[in-house]
Formats: sequence, C-alpha cells, structure tokens
Amino acid sequence: MNSSLLPKGRYLVAGGAGFIASHLCERLVSLGCEVLSIDNFITGRPDNLRGLLGHRLFNQMEHDIVQPLKIEGGLAGIFNLASPASPIDYAKFPIETLHVGAIGSDNLLKIAVEKKCPILVTSTSEVYGDPLEHPQRESYWGNVNPIGPRGCYDESKRYLEALTMAYHRARGVRTRIVRIFNTYGPRMRANDGRVVPNFCMQALANEDVTVYGDGKQTRSFCYIDDMVEGLLRFMQLDHFEPINIGNPDEYTILDFASRIVEMAESKSKIAFKPLPQDDPKTRCPDIAKAKKFLGWEPKVRLDEGLKKTFDYFRTCLVK
Ligand code: UDP
Repeated sequence: MNSSLLPKGRYLVAGGAGFIASHLCERLVSLGCEVLSIDNFITGRPDNLRGLLGHRLFNQMEHDIVQPLKIEGGLAGIFNLASPASPIDYAKFPIETLHVGAIGSDNLLKIAVEKKCPILVTSTSEVYGDPLEHPQRESYWGNVNPIGPRGCYDESKRYLEALTMAYHRARGVRTRIVRIFNTYGPRMRANDGRVVPNFCMQALANEDVTVYGDGKQTRSFCYIDDMVEGLLRFMQLDHFEPINIGNPDEYTILDFASRIVEMAESKSKIAFKPLPQDDPKTRCPDIAKAKKFLGWEPKVRLDEGLKKTFDYFRTCLVK
C-alpha cells in the first residue's frame, strides 16, 4: 500500500487549516486530488493554507461543521480532522470541542451517507486516558476521567468513535477510525501550549524549559510527514476498527527537554512546574496493526524531524 495509489478525486478535509490537516491538504493536491477544506479558524489558521491559495485543485470554505452544511457535487472521500487538539485549546473551548466531536462529526457522517463515499475520522491516543496498559493496543478500552479538564476532548473522541461505528453498522458507511498519537512538525502554533512548541520556542530564546511534574511521564513523537502518509494509506483500506498511528520511539519528558536544549545549542535551564491534572503518565502506541494492515511504520527519526521543526520555529521567533 502507498499514498500515491489513493484514488484521484475530490476530498473534503474538515479542519483543513489545522496543523495536521493543512499538511494533508498539500499532499492531496500534490497527488493530483481536488481538495475542499472547511474550517471555522478557532484553532486552525488561514496562514497554514497560504501555499495552496489560488491552486486550481484547492478550495476552502469558512464554516463551523457543527452548523448544518450542504456540499454540492460528488466526493471521493472525507477526512475529518476538525477539533481543538492541544490541552490548552480544548480547555479554552470545552463546549466547542464536545460539539465538534459529536454534532460536527454527525454532520460529516451524514454527508458520507449522501455521497456514498468513505470517511476517515481522527480519534486520539487520549481515548486511552492515563493508560494502565503499555504500550497501548487498539483492544485496550482506556482509563479516562470523564469530568476532569481533559474529559471534554477524551469523551468527544470516544463519542466520535461510537458514532462512527454506529454509522458503519446501521448505514453501511465505509468508515476508518485513526487513533493519532503525539505528532509534531512545522506549522504547530508556537503558543499552542504543547510540549514541542513550548520546548522549542523556550530553547531557541534561551529561556527556562518548563518541565511539568518530575518529567518522568513519557510521550512518543511522530513526525508530520509520517502521520500524513499513514492517513492517506488508511483512507484506501476497508478496515472498520480503530488503528493507532504514531511513533513508538518513547521518551521521558525530562530526557526530551535535555535533547531539545542540546539540539538547539541553547543556554536554557530546566525549570520544574506543577503537573496538570490527569496528565497521562505514559503513552506509546503499539503499531502492529498499522504495520500489518497499512504496511506503515514511521520513517523520520526524532533528530531529523526536530531539525526541520526548529527551522520552522526560528521563523516564528522573528515574527
Ligand atoms: N509538558 C511539559 N512542559 C510543557 C508542556 C507540556 O512538561 O511546557 C508535558 C505535559 O505535562 C505532558 C507532555 O509534556 O506530560 C506532553 O504534553 P502535550 O501538551 O504536548 O500533549 P499531551 O500528550 O499531554 O496531550
């Protein structure tokens, strides 16, 4: 399987101006596919799609998918990436986060029924909550606090998964559910509060690098190009149960901070700050299913991906 084998045609990308989706839009256009991006720009940025403006294969619509929407013409497929995705974003927009996962996703699933096209929906490693199984396999049901500060995101995505399975079972929709693990690269918002933008911007400015808690919690980081390749492969596959896409290369946050400071040749020191409530202690994808069904595994090493990411964050510093 290969992304370049994706059927040419017209794809709707919801949340198209976001970090991952804007890279996906570019890749789709480079493959000769037509793209209609829809975004309400609450966390996505018009600037992310600047390179596609005016391209004959690219169109965009400013719209909140929670509101009814009518799409003229046929579609080869729908990618649903619409949602705030960083802890500070979904804490700022908790109701919007729940509504987009529930009502927005329902609107898109209805379009998939109408257009008789496949739909790929993006869930998250957060459905595993603070996991009691490690690494996380798709068969694990998770350990989520529904009423904690992360509950709005976790439950929105769990509902999205349930709704997607319901449309598959009751309406025969060709659905694909991806569980995305931590992904990084150019176009992350410098101030989105996540660990990669925070550490890179702090290291580049020689400011203290803020490690939350004791830094022993772990995360596993996937470079954007690998993620996009995984999404494009999965769109081509009739497999209706979730598949994890992420890089199993796992680091403690403290080690990750030291690596970033070293790579940036920075004078930054580490400053410990309180650990946010319900911060997962470990996270690492089991990618056996992605390997087996998609023939996919990440190719970009952390140092290689971080180099490109630093180059991008340097441009954010001068803005
Ligand atoms: N984190 C940190 N310092 C920061 C930002 C985040 O130590 O300035 C930690 C955070 O507590 C978590 C990990 O880095 O353990 C990843 O956080 P992020 O917000 O990127 O995403 P999450 O994986 O928690 O959704």
